[in-house]
Amino acid sequence: MSAPDCDDSIFSQLEAFGHKKVVYCSDPETGLKAIIAIHDTTLGPALGGTRMWAYKTESDALQDVLRLSKSMTYKASIAGLNLGGGKAVIIGDSHRDKTEALLRKFGRFIKNLNGEFITAEDVGTNPRDMEYIRMETQHVMGVPESIGGSGDPSPITALGVFMGIKACVKELYGNDSLTGRSVIVQGVGHVGENLVKLLRDENAKVYASDINEEGVGQIARKYGAEAVSNSKIFEIDADIYAPCALGATINSETIKKLKCGIIAGSANNQLDDEIVHGRMLLEKGILFAPDYVINAGGIINCYSELMGFSKKRTMQLTENIYEATRNVLKLSKCENISTIEAANKIAEKRIADIKKVKSSY
Ligand code: NAD
Repeated sequence: MSAPDCDDSIFSQLEAFGHKKVVYCSDPETGLKAIIAIHDTTLGPALGGTRMWAYKTESDALQDVLRLSKSMTYKASIAGLNLGGGKAVIIGDSHRDKTEALLRKFGRFIKNLNGEFITAEDVGTNPRDMEYIRMETQHVMGVPESIGGSGDPSPITALGVFMGIKACVKELYGNDSLTGRSVIVQGVGHVGENLVKLLRDENAKVYASDINEEGVGQIARKYGAEAVSNSKIFEIDADIYAPCALGATINSETIKKLKCGIIAGSANNQLDDEIVHGRMLLEKGILFAPDYVINAGGIINCYSELMGFSKKRTMQLTENIYEATRNVLKLSKCENISTIEAANKIAEKRIADIKKVKSSY
């Protein structure tokens, strides 16, 4: 899933990423400039969040939406959901440029796609924004619980990450108990805090770090974790590193420093370069739980909202992340390929198999 050269024409970029459709949405009256990318709909409608970001160039926005929508295809596939992959980006500052009119106009564009694309919240958008989009189209998930939606996905995402950690622990130590294991949680925001709680409930030793030092101190006190400086995390001798803040924290420099045996966290796109760093981790003997496999709780939550599943069913689907992670680790070991390559293979195979089923109708 590496990105093609930014200088490529739009059509060659679509071809390189394998996209089905890209829709440019423009409305000078509200200032809306958005791109909706539909990567693949073999398994079902393309579901993906709407990100609002002040991209420096339109080409940056296109690159981001193409990359993110493709990874949604893989995430839905490996989680066993009947969903395709899509994503949308609105170009603009979410604090300054976001208005009801802009969001509702954007909702009209989604409506015109007749259910081929379903959106949800992402960076720069929130459940309130989804309510505005819902005023124009039904094809939006993640609206507040008070109006029948699934609400905040973060506790479910944290549960999925927790299951992914346990699957890795089982692989490395022979049993999946976290009692006495040590975990560095980098980023204690919505997902990170819930993860700290789950880990502490199972008596793991938790080192918590965040750029927000006051916040991390409070969370450490609340759950009995140890707050550590963000600049010191790679010096800690812990069993597990759980990146729950930003992407690309695993690169050639940090891999040299890492002392842990397992990397498993919620942040999207943790490997700076999927192929290069995936293989470096394999060679160093560090088990990497591919982010899109274990952070699928958010999309599972949206899928449950779409299908009208109960909370119990949502939890069950999320707990399946344990088995999904085990399968990835097994294939990686069997074929001596990186875990990300193994995950991609499994996700692609499911799509190819279902494509065959559909073409035989
Ligand atoms: P959040 O914004 O609530 O929390 C992120 C935390 O990371 C914040 O506390 C922030 O201060 C901290 N942070 C930012 N930069 C940091 C740095 N350099 N070092 C240490 N801490 C830093 O976000 P979230 O919803 O908890 O999501 C965390 C990650 O998980 C993101 O990468 C997100 O894309 C991914 N994710 C979230 C969900 C979900 O359900 N929320 C689902 C899938 C993936």
